[in-house]
Amino acid sequence: MKDIRMVDLVTQYEGMQEEIDNAVLNVIRSSAYINGPEVKSFQSELEDYLRVKHVIPCANGTDALQVAMMGLGLKPGDEVITATFTYVATAEVIALLQLTPVLVDVDPDTFLIDLEAVEAAITAKTKAIVPVHLFGQVANMEGLMEIAKKHNLKVVEDTAQAIGAEYSFSNGEKAMAGTIGEIGCTSFFPSKNLGCMGDGGAIFTNDDDLAAKMRMIVNHGQSKRYYHDSIGVNSRLDSIQAAILRIKLRRLDDYGKARQAAAAYYDNAFANHPNLQTPVRADKSTHVFHQYTLRLLNADRAGLQAHLEEKGIPSMIYYPVALHMQTAYADDRYPSGHFPITETLVDEVFSLPMHTELTNEQLEYITSSVLEYLNQD
Ligand SMILES: *Cc1c(COP(=O)(O)O)cnc(C)c1O
Repeated sequence: MKDIRMVDLVTQYEGMQEEIDNAVLNVIRSSAYINGPEVKSFQSELEDYLRVKHVIPCANGTDALQVAMMGLGLKPGDEVITATFTYVATAEVIALLQLTPVLVDVDPDTFLIDLEAVEAAITAKTKAIVPVHLFGQVANMEGLMEIAKKHNLKVVEDTAQAIGAEYSFSNGEKAMAGTIGEIGCTSFFPSKNLGCMGDGGAIFTNDDDLAAKMRMIVNHGQSKRYYHDSIGVNSRLDSIQAAILRIKLRRLDDYGKARQAAAAYYDNAFANHPNLQTPVRADKSTHVFHQYTLRLLNADRAGLQAHLEEKGIPSMIYYPVALHMQTAYADDRYPSGHFPITETLVDEVFSLPMHTELTNEQLEYITSSVLEYLNQD
């Protein structure tokens, strides 16, 4: 049996080595390293895949979020609501732009932003909401868009973990994750569901004006060369990364299926176990399993992790510390105990290996090792 990894990018690469190598070499030989034809092609192929009008490639997912906030013209002191149970990047860009991050708790089953908490957090200063489609499924966007409309707020979807997931509205319409709010942001960090071989990111929108503004912002606020209309940043997707992403985009739905098959194996093995809460599917969203994250109930998480490690099985805690408990984001508004769900989750969650290359032999070994620990004596 092959070594088990949280994410096995080497085996994935081996399955398309020739195609990737040729694409990378072609870019090198073309010398069109920045904003070359590969970037343009990837952009339009991703627009087609997502059924969205505009994709703006950029350097990473954190930049995508920052450019989104800048594109919306948010001003210091404006409040932006997001979940406290997320990766730091979501709040980081808000704070960096001197906007005020307003954190809210999440749903204990899906780990997605709690809409009642969002509504309760809205003040006269609130300008935007940033739902995070955590671990691979889409937050309740229908409800969130209603709240946003009612209070005249913008919605920026953090889709770094859910590209390829699809959301169904109650009227039967469907939309891809990241294309429902005013802006969607994603990351092509190697371990993401659509990952390149370095850093990369993109911004999505159906709004022509916003698209034009954000295209300018990623390019130094430049309307034409050496004419700068707004303060911008330098955030580009490399042509080499775009060439790799084009190849992997064609496989993204198959990758999703492979992840879902691994999740189904785990679900089945762990069904009804008193110590395990397997991932609860969100209403109206498909799940693309960026992570397979369980809650461990009334059992020793560190002990389980040590047992797995001894057997050569990696596991991770996403996330061990919520944003409001981080040194950098600690705030008198959020004393310990303020977000009871998230504070419970950080002590209970753990994630098992999840990627596109897991074999049944590996899955059987992982699941039996977990159960062996939990069912001893
Ligand atoms: C990965 C990630 C980001 C940031 O992406 P980078 O490309 O690493 O900057 C932002 N938000 C979430 C939820 C993420 O998982």
